[in-house]
Formats: sequence, C-alpha cells, structure tokens
Amino acid sequence: MCKVLCIELVFILSILIIGLKVGVMNLLSSIDCLKNVGVKRAELYKKLNIYTIYDLLTYFPREYINCSESRTIKCVRFNEKNVVKARVLSKLSAKWFKNKKVFVCKVLAADEDEETFEIIYFNNTYIYSKLCVGSFYIFYGRFEKKPCGVSLLAPEVLQSVGFIPKYSLTKGLTTNILQSNLKQAILYVKDCCYILPRELILKYNFTDLKTALLNIHFPKTKQQYEKAREMFIFKELLCWQVGLLKLKSSVGLRNKSKIKDIDVNEFLNALPFKITGAQRRVIYECIADCSKDILMNRLIQGDVGSGKTVVAAALAFMFVRAGMQVALMAPTDILARQHYNTFCNFFKTFNINICVLVGSLKVKEKNKLIEGIKNGEYSVVIGTHAIFQDSVVFKNLGLVITDEQHRFGVKQREKLIAKGESVNILVMSATPIPRTLALIVYGDMNVSTIDELPPGRVAVSTYCVNSKMRKRVFNFLEKEINNKHQVYIVCPAIEDSKNNVQNVCCYANMLKENGFLKYNVGVMHGQLDAAAKNSVMQNFVNGSIDILVTTTVIEVGVDVLNASVIVIENAEMFGLAQLHQLRGRVGRGNLKSYCILISDLKSPDNKERMRALCDTNSGFEIARKDLSLRGPGDFFGIKQHGDVEFKIANLKRDFRIACICKKEAEHILALDKDLTRKENLSIKGAVNKLFSGDYVVI
Ligand code: ADP
Ligand code: MG
Repeated sequence: MCKVLCIELVFILSILIIGLKVGVMNLLSSIDCLKNVGVKRAELYKKLNIYTIYDLLTYFPREYINCSESRTIKCVRFNEKNVVKARVLSKLSAKWFKNKKVFVCKVLAADEDEETFEIIYFNNTYIYSKLCVGSFYIFYGRFEKKPCGVSLLAPEVLQSVGFIPKYSLTKGLTTNILQSNLKQAILYVKDCCYILPRELILKYNFTDLKTALLNIHFPKTKQQYEKAREMFIFKELLCWQVGLLKLKSSVGLRNKSKIKDIDVNEFLNALPFKITGAQRRVIYECIADCSKDILMNRLIQGDVGSGKTVVAAALAFMFVRAGMQVALMAPTDILARQHYNTFCNFFKTFNINICVLVGSLKVKEKNKLIEGIKNGEYSVVIGTHAIFQDSVVFKNLGLVITDEQHRFGVKQREKLIAKGESVNILVMSATPIPRTLALIVYGDMNVSTIDELPPGRVAVSTYCVNSKMRKRVFNFLEKEINNKHQVYIVCPAIEDSKNNVQNVCCYANMLKENGFLKYNVGVMHGQLDAAAKNSVMQNFVNGSIDILVTTTVIEVGVDVLNASVIVIENAEMFGLAQLHQLRGRVGRGNLKSYCILISDLKSPDNKERMRALCDTNSGFEIARKDLSLRGPGDFFGIKQHGDVEFKIANLKRDFRIACICKKEAEHILALDKDLTRKENLSIKGAVNKLFSGDYVVI
C-alpha cells in the first residue's frame, strides 16, 4: 500500500514538475471540478474509470468517423459501419412487434445515385419524427443485404463535417457531452508542456501535449489524429520498455549464489547421453548470469524435445552443490511428478534429496514435506504453484525454475525473490517466439535459445486431411495399435457442442461404433478431478490405454515414448504454435511417428497454416511463419506481456513502434540510468504508474 502511495506521489510530482497547471486546480483535480460536471455525471464518468481531469484527457477515441467519406450503396461495405449521404423519400411504417416489446420504424431513402434503401429504427420514435421527407442527411450505420433489398440499421444522424471521434461510452454520456467537458479540460494543460524528452519530440516530429490532445479529440485531418495517437502510443510503449529494462538491470539484491566454483561436468559426465552443443551453450549462459551481481532472470526457449529439462537439472545440481535449495514449478500434478522422476533419475548417483509437493497429497504428508523444506532436508522441491504458498518456507532458496507456460509478472517475481536471500529465476518455454519479438515481450529477461535437437530424433510426419478421410485414418490407427503403439486423439470440446465441433465424450463412443470396441479407450479433459486425471494418465503411460481421447490438457510436456500417432480434430480451431505443441506429444522416443490434422475449413489462410505444419518440424520455423502470416498477435495470445495494461497501445497493431521504443529506451537508460534528468521525469512517473497495477501470472 505504502509503495503504491509512493509511486502515485512520484507520478503526481512528475506531472506537476513537467509544468502542468500548478494551483488550486490541476490535471489531477477531480472531474467534478469541471463546469457542467455534477455528482451525477461524475458517477457516469466513474463507470469509465475517469476520476480526474487527466483521466478524461487521456480517455482516447476508439475510432473516427470521416463524415466526408460518404459512400453510395454500390460501394458500401456490408455488415460494417459506413457513412452515407441520403435523402429521405418517405416514412414507410411505424409498428409494434413481438407483443409490444419492439417498436419498429421504417424510412425509405435514396443515396446520391438515387438508389433506394430502407432505414430501420428500433424503439426510437424520436429520430423517426425528426427526419423530414425531402431532406438530405448524413447517416452512419451498418448495412445489411437481404433478398428483399438493402437496409440500414439504426443509423446515427451525423451533424457535422470532418472527423467525429467515437468513444466507448456509457448510457447517459454522449460524445457531445464528453467533448464539451474535454474542451474545458484541455484549458488546464499548459501551452509548452511535453510528455516526451525534447530530443524525441524533434526526432519523431511529435507536438506538445496540448496540441496532441486537441488533435486526438478534435481532429481536422486524418494526419492530425494519427500523429497524435502515435505520440501517445509511443509514450506508453517507451515507458513499458524503460520499465522492463530497469527491472532487468536493477534488482536490488546482490547475488549470493557461489555456483561458479562448482564443476558442472561432474553432473554432465554422469548423464546417460552426451548433451548437445546448444544445451552446453545455454548452461554456460546461465552460469555466467549467476556469477554476476544481479540476480538471474533468464528464459530458455527450445522446441519440444530439445532437452530443456536437463539444462534445468544441471543448474539445479550446481545450486544444490553450492548449498542452496532449488524449486521447480510445473503447471500440472502430472508434469510435476514426471519431472520428479526425471530428476531422481538424473541425480541418483549424487545423494541429493528431492521431494514432490502437489495438491493431491494428504495433509499429513504435505505438512511433513513443508517441515523438511523449512529445515533444509530437501534440496530440490518440485511441484505445482502450491510450492509458493505462504506456508512453504525455504531454508535457503537460490533458484526457481518454472516449466512451460508460466511466466511471472513483475509482482510475482518480487514475491518469489522474497522467498530467499538470493533467488535466481529460470523460465523454460516450449513455445519458441522469434527473437525480435522475444526481446520486446521479455524485455526484463535474458533469453537463451536451444536451437538443436538431440541426435537420432525421427521427424514426425504430418498430414492434413478432411473429415471424409476419417474412416481411413481409423484404419491406420488400428494398424498402429496392433503394432502395440498408442494413439492420442485431440478434440476442441469436452461435451456435446453445437457447431459441428468434435468433443471428447461423443468421440469416445463414436470410436466404439467404428470398430474400436476391443481396444481400451481413455478419456481425458480439464473437468475431471485431479485423481481421475492422474489415473487416466498413469494408465496411458503404462500402456493399458490404447487410445486417449483428450482436449488440449495433454499439451504440456508429458512423455509417453510409445505414442506414435496424434490425430487433431478441427485443427483449424488451434493456433499454429499450439498445434506444434500438440504434435510434440509424439516422436519423443525413436518410434516413427505421425500427426494427422483433420480440418474441413477451405480458406486459403487455413490451408497455408496447415501446410506450414506439414512442411516443417521446427518450432522456430513455424513461429516465423505464424509471424508472417498473422503478425505478432497470436504470440501475445500465448505469451502475454502480462504485467501492464495499456491505455492506447496495442502490441499486435503497434509492434513496429514497440521495436523503436525498445531502442530509445536503451538509449535513455544508457545516459540516465535512474531517470533523474529533468527531461526524463515525465517518463519516470509514467513508468511507475504503468507498473503499479496488480499483476497476475500468465
Ligand atoms: P523438452 O525440451 O521438451 O522439455 P525434455 O527435456 O523432456 O525436452 O527432453 C526430451 C527427451 O530427450 C528426454 O527423454 C531427455 O532425457 C532426452 N534428451 C535430452 N537431451 C538429450 C541429449 N543431449 N541426447 C539424448 N537425449 C536427450
Ligand atoms: Mg519439458
């Protein structure tokens, strides 16, 4: 709380210092200080999270309507909003419908080409009565094409020419009200106030704050609002990058782990295989981190099967040898147990105590483990997020490893770091993302890449077929099972779903009807309880289940070496990276393996995506393809930036600006690492504000 207050204070001060109106009223004054904003309207503003004059000024339009860009019916875009200049020809009808619940008014109008269409209003007699036959109006609304003709649904009637900003509003607040309040609010901004250092304003052709606000809320040209938007987006992304870079370089604790004196070869020589060059390089990158003053915060990305676990184990070995505890967090119980077995195996000659702490343990067992963790009896603690509950206290935690999917937000990282005197963090991710993207999104981390697979891996053969081929796919599955192999079938849904999407429960029955009666079919999905999930998974691992029909819960790292085929139904519903992850469930041993994608969607985009998977087995290649096909958006879905909520920036759209901001952020911090220079104060305040939210683990 105190910290948040401090952060707020810095922010307030910085705003004052950058020259905004100092006096009785300023940008941080409550919104009801404005003329025409009373208690009632202030309540409405609260619904939009607008409390201060500053909040109002930075409540940016979602989009703009260009009133002069009027279309004729011939060229309107159906099912989206258009501006159309039209003359009202006649008022057709006004009737109650559906038991007097809807009042429908219809108007006949003609566009500038004299083409006619119908305008329909629902429950809006006011507009209907105001429209005059014979007059021209500028309408803005959605057009629909029906067999009986073209209709325009509940359009707004625009009053002005030029650009009209559209805001997300709430009932009782109109664009006009907002704009009249904005006009007054802008007066509180001083004339020569800049939200970015002078150098950047000049370099990127930005303006002062007042001009930018006028241009974004009251634009006269498209260029005006685009440039103003760009400045605010730039400011936000710059602050984000500055914040991440500061985090990366300034964790206040000194790294006390003395692992550089430990010989990792003792561990590597005991392994049943020789590690790859990439694994060795990454291990040494981590060791170099841990020998520095600041704590390690490193992400290891590597394709499925690239052998990330052994890298983590090597580091764990060194920390344990240096007298510190290691915690490894997995996303599920099953994975935690699998890691436990793997670690026990790796460490069997070293007399290192390992325990696994998962939700399904009995309270008594759990308490015993917690006691052992506290007194240092266990050197390596493996589990789900349960290992970071308050009740779990470590004697001397030195390294936290998280596997798959989990990335800590800034707040979680702080909490973890507080679990020991010197806690280093290692994150393993099997969703490779292109380097340019990684550097932006993981700005607060160092990134290592394992870009080589262990030798002897047979590539998984991937095919894409339509559902008419399902029978043939089944024949193939039968052959594989008769050869004593196992099969995964992935469906998007759990239970009966409407829109023709395959679901786990019906699918299992369908298999029985299609000749699979004599085989063991298991069912797995997120709604089963932990014990049921565990037992199904155990039965699949030990080979007593032949076919596992499942949702994507099996996505993460489980190792079943005997599984040779994965069938993915409705493949179009999954992202490329996710399909690649799923494919990684097979081909983990040395069996020839197959991935069969079933999809009926014929769009060119889907075809190209499926082809990308059939053509390559490299996660990095697929990530690059995904980036070029769909832009960076999909990656942000998988690995979100997490910590911050942007007001105006959108990484998917503004990725180019984010790249520029990263460079500028580096430049700023190189010259002024604590942001104490006067020109950087507004950045400092905004950085603190951006990172002061309550963060969640992604
Ligand atoms: P992932 O990166 O997907 O987590 P794992 O760490 O689970 O991959 O490794 C996949 C399999 O490859 C494991 O069975 C592991 O023991 C094995 N493995 C890892 N590194 C090597 C290597 N250098 N040579 C041979 N096998 C390896
Ligand atoms: Mg793994």
